[in-house]
Amino acid sequence: MSHAKIRAPELKPVDYSTKFGEFIGIGPNGNLFVDGCDVQDLAERFGTPLYIISENQLRQNYRAFRDAFQKYHPDTEILFANKSNNGLAIRHIMNQEGAGGDCFGAQEMYMALLAGTNPKSLVLNGSNKQDEELEMAIANGLCINIDAMDELDRIAAIAERLNCDVDIGIRLKLDLEPLRNRMGVSMHGPGTLKQQSDSTKWGMTREQTVEIVKRAQAMGRINLKETHFHLSRMSNDPADFAVMAREMITWSGYIRDNTGWTPPCIDIGGGWTFGKWYGTGPNSQLDDDKAPTPDDYARLCVGAIKEEAERLGLPLPKLRLEPGRALSGPAGVAVGRVGAIKTGSTKKWVNLDLSTNHLSWASILDWYYHAVPVKNAGAAPTETVDLVGPLCNSDEIGPHRKLPELSRGDYVAFLDAGGYTESSAARYNAQLLPATVLVSGSTAEIITEREQLKDVAGRFRVPPRLLAASFAP
Ligand SMILES: *Cc1c(COP(=O)(O)O)cnc(C)c1O
Repeated sequence: MSHAKIRAPELKPVDYSTKFGEFIGIGPNGNLFVDGCDVQDLAERFGTPLYIISENQLRQNYRAFRDAFQKYHPDTEILFANKSNNGLAIRHIMNQEGAGGDCFGAQEMYMALLAGTNPKSLVLNGSNKQDEELEMAIANGLCINIDAMDELDRIAAIAERLNCDVDIGIRLKLDLEPLRNRMGVSMHGPGTLKQQSDSTKWGMTREQTVEIVKRAQAMGRINLKETHFHLSRMSNDPADFAVMAREMITWSGYIRDNTGWTPPCIDIGGGWTFGKWYGTGPNSQLDDDKAPTPDDYARLCVGAIKEEAERLGLPLPKLRLEPGRALSGPAGVAVGRVGAIKTGSTKKWVNLDLSTNHLSWASILDWYYHAVPVKNAGAAPTETVDLVGPLCNSDEIGPHRKLPELSRGDYVAFLDAGGYTESSAARYNAQLLPATVLVSGSTAEIITEREQLKDVAGRFRVPPRLLAASFAP
């Protein structure tokens, strides 16, 4: 077997009786399986709350986007949005697949570099980049997507001091006129997709973009590489993304007409969804089986890009996209253990040791995670319960779920929890953050250690004057 093959192994989807993904489903004994591992065994062995990531599912999700876009536009590069799952092992897997990365902030950039990611396949995004961050990006050769008027001068000064060249992009504030009447998803605030996009802090106007390009053209050491946009809006309509992709090219035409520079690469960001037959996503069950596939996105976006490029007489640019949750989300599950079960006059509550601090989107964004019992995962539901966690707020991690009867000690798994869970977990109530286990075939290995009390308590300090006041005689 060649080295390249080992780095990016052939994937053979598992033949489950019920499929939640290519590598997640109901196994031969009726339990939930992640690849070749029984989740019941994993929970007993590693404890709960527990995140589990399927390595092969992650690779599969990446390849689905890569293959779909490269089918319509071979010169496409997939940059994994690192923030959706910052694990070092995750980054190693992405590197082996040949994925680039979107870094937000010095720490994400540091970890991507620590994992050996090719810096030329990394971009640095951010609306308020610090000097330290710019310096790390410039010294290591990342492309910096400019998002403030004074950023170019700061970059130029650091590049001069470090005596090196730097690649830059510009984050755009697209007009998105055709989305004026398209209602946005409420998780992004009130209004239409256009209003939601207009109201965010991101991106430079046409005039600002032209000014940045002109100033960059007059500078040594600055290489203009790309324009960037991140729609982020969750919508079940891939045509919304095609509107955005088309307008990236419209702006390329405008930039060319005003500066002579045609962006050789457009980076169309993240926000790509995934669909599941059981529903998932914001405000429950938006991302169901009607959600666009990678092929839908690719066909419509690349189609729009080609049409607009032809209309304006522009060469086809290199295409970059930055999917996060579409790659990491369906690659993971989060598992909790059933404790107290309580019946009230109108409700039944099933307490878990997993909560909204571990699946933070469940509370912040009203995100729906499909929950299944780990043992006998396909059993018919017999009752409706609220799945709640151990926090001091009413942490409904799964309200109104139809499930078979659960008992103390059973495990419950929340599907599609591989993205924005560990990376946005909080230790409210001094909770210890969970471990993460990476599964490949029948192998399961810890990739994030479970937090210990010393990790939480050890950060606290008591000023000596308070010690004196408490303890001095
Ligand atoms: C968050 C983010 C992404 C990833 O978004 P997903 O919804 O996870 O695909 C990509 N690019 C940028 C600039 C982002 O901020």
